[in-house]
Amino acid sequence: MGRLGKPEEIAAIRNRTWPLRPWYDVDMKRKIVGYHLDAESHWVAELECGHGQHVRDDPPWKERPWVRTEEGRASRLGQDLNCVRCDEFARKVAEAVIKECRESLVAAYEDAGISGLCAEGRWEMALDSLHSINLSKIIS
Ligand SMILES: [Zn+2]
Repeated sequence: MGRLGKPEEIAAIRNRTWPLRPWYDVDMKRKIVGYHLDAESHWVAELECGHGQHVRDDPPWKERPWVRTEEGRASRLGQDLNCVRCDEFARKVAEAVIKECRESLVAAYEDAGISGLCAEGRWEMALDSLHSINLSKIIS
């Protein structure tokens, strides 16, 4: 019996964790709006999101010769840079939304089964449950 419905099957699904797979990379691009030097004299790009990100010229690991000159830095203003902190935040939100959706789907499907609905009705109830998810509760 491969159908969802046994309490142990539901418990197993509820207890699973759902991390985003690496290939679902969020890759949040933000424009460079300025620069400053950190306490160790490394250049930090100031991004439009308010976060800062080091832009080191550190060959052979990272080559950014443009960061060493005023003209070079100015030439990169307005260009996109991947913001690691925004990536982290977006990933956490995405994982929390996925987790909440899965819990809602499983609970509604289970409840509908207890109510005696057929498989089609259970799926309908499960999908309808997504309308009542409180996103502000997840994000806060
Ligand atoms: Zn950011």
